[in-house]
This record gives sequence, C-alpha cells and structure tokens, in this order.
Amino acid sequence: MSQEYDLVVVGGGNAAFCAALSARETCSRILVLERAPLEEAGGNSRFTAGAMRVAYSGVEDLKRLMPDLTDEELARTDFGTYTEAQFFDDLGRVTQYRCDPDLTEVLVKKSFDTLLWMRSKGVRFVPIYGRQAFKVDGKFKFWGGLTVESWGGGPGLVDALAKAANHCGIDILYSARATALIHDDDGVHGVQVKREGKTVDVLAKCVVLAGGGFQANPEWRARYLGPNWELAKVRGTRFNTGDVIKMALDIGAAPTGNWSGCHAVGWERNAPEFGDLAVGDAFQKHSYPFGIMLNAEGRRFVDEGADFRNYTYAKYGRVILAQSGQFAWQIFDRKVAHLLRDEYRIKQVTKVCARTLEELVGKLDDVDAAAALGEIQRYNAAVRKEIPFNPNVKDGRSTSGLAVPKSNWANTIDEPPFEAYAVTCGITFTFGGLRINTESQVISTDGEPIPGLYAAGELVGGIFYFNYPGGSGLTNGAVFGRIAGASAARAALGRR
Ligand SMILES: Cc1cc2nc3c(=O)[nH]c(=O)nc-3n(C[C@H](O)[C@H](O)[C@H](O)COP(=O)(O)OP(=O)(O)OC[C@H]3O[C@@H](n4cnc5c(N)ncnc54)[C@H](O)[C@@H]3O)c2cc1C
Repeated sequence: MSQEYDLVVVGGGNAAFCAALSARETCSRILVLERAPLEEAGGNSRFTAGAMRVAYSGVEDLKRLMPDLTDEELARTDFGTYTEAQFFDDLGRVTQYRCDPDLTEVLVKKSFDTLLWMRSKGVRFVPIYGRQAFKVDGKFKFWGGLTVESWGGGPGLVDALAKAANHCGIDILYSARATALIHDDDGVHGVQVKREGKTVDVLAKCVVLAGGGFQANPEWRARYLGPNWELAKVRGTRFNTGDVIKMALDIGAAPTGNWSGCHAVGWERNAPEFGDLAVGDAFQKHSYPFGIMLNAEGRRFVDEGADFRNYTYAKYGRVILAQSGQFAWQIFDRKVAHLLRDEYRIKQVTKVCARTLEELVGKLDDVDAAAALGEIQRYNAAVRKEIPFNPNVKDGRSTSGLAVPKSNWANTIDEPPFEAYAVTCGITFTFGGLRINTESQVISTDGEPIPGLYAAGELVGGIFYFNYPGGSGLTNGAVFGRIAGASAARAALGRR
C-alpha cells in the first residue's frame, strides 16, 4: 500500500468491481478495499439471486446477452419485451415520480449495454425461469419486467467479477476498512484504511465510493428510518453500516434521496440478525400474492395482490414491521402450493400445516385464532370466483366488499392441506445516500462536484423512493459503477 494508486475503490460488491474493471480500461494502478474478510466478501451483491432488470426490445436482444439459450428454450418461452419506456415508467410509478430524472434516464438507457459489457468481462446470464415465469398451457411466460439473472446468482456474480479483477492486475485487499477520506481544498487524494489494527494512508488520484447503505447499523436505522426499525432483521451483509456515506458527508458531500425510506421485505420470522450466506435470499417469502397475510389480531392488513410481486415486495416489509409484534403469517391452500417459490421449501422456515382451517388458526403462534378464522371465512366469501385465475398476468380476480381488498389472484383458502409461514421485516438496503451527477461525481453541499471523488451503488441517493422495481439494485450498481470507474480513470490521467 506504499505506492500511490490511480484509483482506490472502497467496497467489494458489484458496484465496486464494475468501477474497478471499467477504470482498468484506462489506467493500471487500481486498489479495491473490502472491509469484509474474504469468506464474507462481496457485500449485499453476494446475497442476491443475481436478478438484473434490463431493458430489451425482444428475444434477439436477449440472445446477445444469453447466447447459450437453446432452440428448445426459445420455443417454449414467451420472453415478451421490456422496453426502455416500460423500465422508465416502472421507476417513475413505484417511486411516485420522485426518482431523479437524469440518473433514471442513464440507468434505463445504459442497462442493456452495461450487461453486455459485464458479459465481456466474464459474467454469464441466464433466464429466471423458476421465479419470474410460470408455465401456462405448456409455455413459460415472463412477467414483471425481470427476465435475466447472473449465472450462479449473487455468489456467481461476485466470483466472476473478482476473478476478472484479479486477472487484469487489480489489487484487492480484504479486511481493509476505509475510515476517512484524505482531502484538501483541491479535492480528494486518497483514503485512510484500518487493517490488522493499524491505520495507514493510501494515496490515490481518485476514489470511488461503493461501500453500500446503512441498513446494518441499528442506531442509524432508528435515527433515519424511524421507531422500531432497529427491530428489523438485516437480509444481507453486516458490513454496510453507513461509514462510507459518513466519510463523504464529513468532507462536505451532499446527502440526497429518501433518507427515511428503504427496501424491506417479508422475511423468515426467526432468521438471524444478519444475512447468512449459506441461506442467501431464501429467508424471503415472496409468494404472498397467491395467499393472504394475517397479523396478530387475526386480520388482513394489506392488498397482497395489488401488483406483481416485483412491484410490491420491497415495500411490504415496512407494512409488516408496522403490525403488532412486527410479524405476520402467510397462508396458502393446496390449490396454490405448487406456485410457491423454492424459498418456501428450505429447512430454516417457521411453518405450520393443518387439514382444517380451525386446526390451522390454532397453530399460528401469537395470533387471535378466533379472529383469524372469521377473517379467512370473510375473505373466502368475498372472492370473485367467476373471474379465472392466471398467475402470469394481473388477472383481476379480486375480492368484493372487504375493507382491505385483494385486487388480483384471489383464490379461496378452502382445500387442505393448509400451510402457513411466519414472517417479519427484513431490511435489504437504505434509499438515502450521496448526491451524484450523471458522471458519478459526488456533489458537495455547495452544488459542485468534489474533485477526485465518485460514487456508485447502494450508497447513492435520489434514485429509489418508497419502493423499488425488483432487480434494479444490481443494474444500478453496474451502470453507475462502470461510469464512476471510467470517469475517475479519465480524471486520474489529468490529476497530479
Ligand atoms: C438477500 C438480498 C437479495 C437481493 N436480491 C437482489 C437481486 O436479485 N437483484 C438486485 O438487483 N438486487 C438485489 N438485492 C439488492 C442488491 O444486493 C444491492 O442493490 C446491490 O448488491 C448493491 O451493490 P453495492 O455494490 O452498492 O453494495 P454491496 O454489494 O453491499 O457492496 C458494498 C461493499 O462495501 C463494503 N464496505 C462497507 N463499508 C466499508 C468500508 N468502510 N471500507 C471498505 N469496504 C466497505 C462491504 O463489505 C461490501 O463489500 C438483494 C439484496 C439482498 C440483501
């Protein structure tokens, strides 16, 4: 670490590696600082399924991303399209049109090109058959704008990126925690790093920050997200505690975005405090659109079928956190059991089964059983059975007359065996962060770029508000990571 680097990248996830690999196309002395030890490295990116939202005009585009698609796969699949306009609309709609229009445009327009670029670096993509397409009349049909995932999921993605970085001579230091930025009136000149109990200065012409959000910091969660957020489980890495955001704020970077907002989902009630790499994202329970959710009072509290899972799951964790005891039970019957995602079949699950509804409600821990039975019966009576059920489209099979409606996929719960799964709130990542421009330069509170400082990924604010279209996080980190690396490398050439 004695030499001066062209670029130091803080973080060891998807955004960080995309930045390092992109910078390597222009400059050579690059260091990646990863706070986690090698066994836990890779940030939240490693916990993902690797799903990436990307705009495509049709199957020909997808064949460029996934040349390994077989004729048989092509014949049995309706991939549809997911145009830039649809991606843009989705981001606008779910963020209530608060997303920064310039950053959003870059994210959408560069999504396809960036995934192709990742492919050129060794990342492989495959269709998400299991989770994002159901087989109806012999054909898989993709829904919800999410079609592509990295081969090997999050671990496969991080491995491929780290391998590419090693291959082209990028230095990577694990267990290396960045603690402060070295800066003066001319901007940023490196970072202070704590490693093996010693703090050292690492000089660099430019620095890219890609150190994740603050979701693993319970004190910041309570401070910014509000009461009870310290009680949420963290779905991913324990290392994203907001200190990289703080490092930038400390030298005058501007905060922006939805600081009281976050991505949070329904998550196994008895999951550990932080994510477990052996389980990955399988503590999540995302098939609720096909069942109902009951709280401690035995009541439904949210429209489980308001939209495809991809457009509701990231905001329903907050809704569950707001229930008494911060938990809910998801309930299904035999008719939909085959539609439940793989995550319902893991060992580490809080599940009860029963042959009758009376027996089932008696087994729901901490729930008013009589109220729950009444609620299920009222729900069953309200289902509009005359409308056919179809999991691949928003089928409009709704309830009528309920205070809390179910807008799609409303099936009666009346065929045993019945199954119920206990969930709480699992926080994924926080939405507030640093302000950047479309070149990924970090902007100061005075409104000007801070020379030598760039940022990408989860720690950037201004893109996601209230909610989030599934699969956008990795694409966001990749698009702006790639831009940050390229911008920083160009700047490094001109900096002393
Ligand atoms: C269970 C789960 C499933 C998910 N599934 C998906 C999905 O399928 N698709 C999708 O798009 N998104 C998904 N997400 C969201 C996605 O993980 C994030 O949006 C994305 O990975 C963020 O990438 P990043 O590189 O910004 O952050 P990270 O991948 O979290 O990387 C941050 C890095 O910074 C390091 N770091 C932190 N502090 C310091 C410091 N002081 N010094 C040095 N290094 C530091 C961390 O150790 C880590 O390596 C999921 C998240 C979780 C938790």
